[in-house]
Amino acid sequence: PSNERLRTTNPATGEPGRAYDPHTIDDARSSAAAARNAFLDWRGTSFADRAAVIRKAAEILRSRQDEFARLMTEEMGKTIADGRAEVEKCAFHCDWFAGHAQQYLANEPIDIGGGEAFVTFNPIGVVLAVMPWNFPFWQVFRFVAPALMAGNGALLKHASNVPGCALAIEQILHEAGVPSDLFRTLLLPSRNVEALIKDENVAAVTLTGSVAAGKSVATAAGSMLKKCVLELGGSDAYVVLEDADIEAAAKVAATARMVNGGQSCIAGKRFIVVHSILEQFEAAMVEAMAGYEMGDPLDPATKLGPMQSVKARDEIHQQVESSIRNGARLLLGGKVPDRSGAWYPATVLSDVQPGQPAHDEEVFGPVAAIIAANDEADAIRIANDSEFGLGSGVLTGDLDRGRRIAAEQLEAGMSFVNENVRSDPRAPFGGVKHSGYGRECGSFGIREFVNIKTVHVK
Ligand code: NAP
Repeated sequence: PSNERLRTTNPATGEPGRAYDPHTIDDARSSAAAARNAFLDWRGTSFADRAAVIRKAAEILRSRQDEFARLMTEEMGKTIADGRAEVEKCAFHCDWFAGHAQQYLANEPIDIGGGEAFVTFNPIGVVLAVMPWNFPFWQVFRFVAPALMAGNGALLKHASNVPGCALAIEQILHEAGVPSDLFRTLLLPSRNVEALIKDENVAAVTLTGSVAAGKSVATAAGSMLKKCVLELGGSDAYVVLEDADIEAAAKVAATARMVNGGQSCIAGKRFIVVHSILEQFEAAMVEAMAGYEMGDPLDPATKLGPMQSVKARDEIHQQVESSIRNGARLLLGGKVPDRSGAWYPATVLSDVQPGQPAHDEEVFGPVAAIIAANDEADAIRIANDSEFGLGSGVLTGDLDRGRRIAAEQLEAGMSFVNENVRSDPRAPFGGVKHSGYGRECGSFGIREFVNIKTVHVK
């Protein structure tokens, strides 16, 4: 039924939060029509006018940083420290695209022998964004700042557990001066997404989410021949070589694993370690992971808050238990604490092998999987033996070796040497294989939702 209210739950306490009235598919269709009309005006505005609006959004984000961080904590359990950093990252991203969109989308002259020829980048219309709860502000701003700077309109269908964040983002953009019809938040159940993708006023769709959602969004978009960008799951592998500084490597590995309580597409999930340093790495990894103690997410010192929901926590625990039943060795954590809320401790598994969920599936929580490899070639083979290809890493004392493996051998959209993978407005972000296709950020990201047009004047 379309009148089912959306009710949030505080993951730290299990207490119910606010309830919101959802939109209907008819509401969504009229928003799409209005956005299309607003787009016809917006595409005629100058980069300077758009930049003023997007810079204002950055200002609002910064001036209300704490309020937005707290909202994220209440709805999906992120620590307040992570929330504040996320709001600042969104503001930086807005400023970056306000300052660089014009250059990214400037006409490019081409020589095709005779006359004048150039490439121009025209906006394509209203883009539907289907977004996940794990970075409730960042995922949206990552898409919307460049989309609006390029001259497009946008509709946001956010995850059902973060309606307050979804509405706050709409309010920020409207207050900044984005015409109200040009951007709308729709509190829409995911079963209505297909119909909205097929709506004549929606030009394209971008999804950040699971593989299952990616398949249904791509199917709907494909049936209408509409462009889509998919940022899906990941099971990022870090190859740990025998020449690595083991303690430093374990710190990078734990940082990579524990991003957002382990609930990140680009969290390090598999640590593939050559035999000769396996024992030492296990010990260093346990020590580094033990530094992430569970605590009140509203305390700025807390490094690990609750998972997003009890259901998600229970799924993670099942993945851990099933991995142990199938031969994994538990080195840290692995026990559900006796308290209400969605708590799960920092956990380390070793002897992880094919046939165990920790090896074969994406584990979306604070669980590090250590996998032994014979040597460099074996480690690379294991890293690439995954349905995913989002981020990846190499931990080594030899930078030439690291550069070669990162640049040429890991099947992933991002490969970092001696550092955990991070997104950045200046660098393209995205994956291969079941991690999706298309890119966000940088010049490649802003050029996804434009018509790359060749003009020849003779
Ligand atoms: P999810 O269930 O796929 O939800 C993501 C969004 O898609 C939500 O708005 C959800 O709405 C909607 N959705 C779900 N099923 C849908 C369907 N069949 N058709 C249309 N829309 C649908 O994702 P999740 O499991 O909560 O989020 C975690 C996943 O996202 C992980 O796999 C993670 O790796 C991935 N992720 C990827 C990136 C990246 O940049 N590559 C970044 C962050 C997360 P409802 O909430 O209403 O169901």
